[in-house]
Amino acid sequence: MDQESWIPTEIPLNRPNAARIYDCLLGGYHNFAIDRQIADQMMEVYPEMGLGAQANRAFLRRAVRFLMGQGIDQILDLGSGIPTVGNVHEEAQAVNPEARVVYVDIDPVAVSHSNAMLKDNQLAVAIQQDVRNIQTILNHDQVTALLDFERPVAVLMVAILHYVVDYEEARHIVHETLGALAPGSYLTIAHATTEFEPPGLLTLQELFGQASATQSRSRAQIEAFFAGQEMVEPGLVWTPLWRPDDADDLFVDQPHRALTLAGMIRKP
Ligand code: SAM
Repeated sequence: MDQESWIPTEIPLNRPNAARIYDCLLGGYHNFAIDRQIADQMMEVYPEMGLGAQANRAFLRRAVRFLMGQGIDQILDLGSGIPTVGNVHEEAQAVNPEARVVYVDIDPVAVSHSNAMLKDNQLAVAIQQDVRNIQTILNHDQVTALLDFERPVAVLMVAILHYVVDYEEARHIVHETLGALAPGSYLTIAHATTEFEPPGLLTLQELFGQASATQSRSRAQIEAFFAGQEMVEPGLVWTPLWRPDDADDLFVDQPHRALTLAGMIRKP
């Protein structure tokens, strides 16, 4: 069977995958029938699932623009996903064409499509790695070739830590990352929370679980990722309420419907 160029040859087409389901929810087209089937079933249970993904993506763009405004010019995006509208390097390089971005994802489709898009961009690259091997990532040749950890770096963990089901392992990833960063660096987290349980939560978890296990966490557990650090205003909030551009932004009036909390810290 002829596969399109963005599909690595070793990918089984009959198994759903987290990155591609998220791509479906965002209205992207780098996904297979099996992913669309799961996304459609999830939307039947919680019709706002797609809007929640959009709200998360909008937060990501706002966070990058904020970081650029702070003079950041190096970004490490962990669990970066399949490229879609308003990618991190596009937002960053629109402000500073010299900004450097390294994307990291476990999913080969996300990585191959990212690298296809970045082939003429010398200042951005995608590597395939598991965030649970955080030291391997921080010391990876392609990461250290682009990012100078002696200077401030912004690390993005946007909708990724809930894939690390073991809480202590998730905390370890944050801890190791912060340890590697220079003063003036930033860490941004958006995380699925148990604070609001949408109707049909168990069915949603069961459906998504066919692709990947995830673990939503309480506000206190998410807050603990930031313990001892300087939080950027407005602190840990429902994702749509993190520095919205406009009072009419998606879900600003009912922010819990986005299902995720977000926050950012600056390493003093
Ligand atoms: N950060 C992007 C955003 O917010 O739009 C994409 C988020 S998407 C919901 C989650 C991504 O995390 C997927 O692309 C998935 O492949 C990736 N992922 C899941 N587990 C991972 C792991 N252990 N290591 C690296 N990436 C992982």
